[in-house]
Amino acid sequence: MTQERPSEGTEQGTGATVGDGAHVRVDCAEALSKLFAFLDAEIGEAEGDLIREHLADCEPCLAEYDIEDHVKKLVKRSCSDCAPPELHVRIRQQLTVLRTQTLG
Ligand SMILES: [Zn+2]
Repeated sequence: MTQERPSEGTEQGTGATVGDGAHVRVDCAEALSKLFAFLDAEIGEAEGDLIREHLADCEPCLAEYDIEDHVKKLVKRSCSDCAPPELHVRIRQQLTVLRTQTLG
């Protein structure tokens, strides 16, 4: 396993350094990469909790989660069986825009 650290600089240290290792945290990249799986309930509960925990602490990721959650409900309400592929494309476009805005 390789451990990569995309953001090495400590921009805003929240002082959330955990020493005992009992509290595992996921970073933004991991949280976002698992966002779709999380929303589709394709990952386990433990992993889902990690994502949820991260979202609770991380505004940019939470914003993305809100969009996903919102769209999911929208799809379910309008059509319980079929989700038009165009919608997925639109979601991804929105996410891309949002990510660009968030990261500057
Ligand atoms: Zn995050």
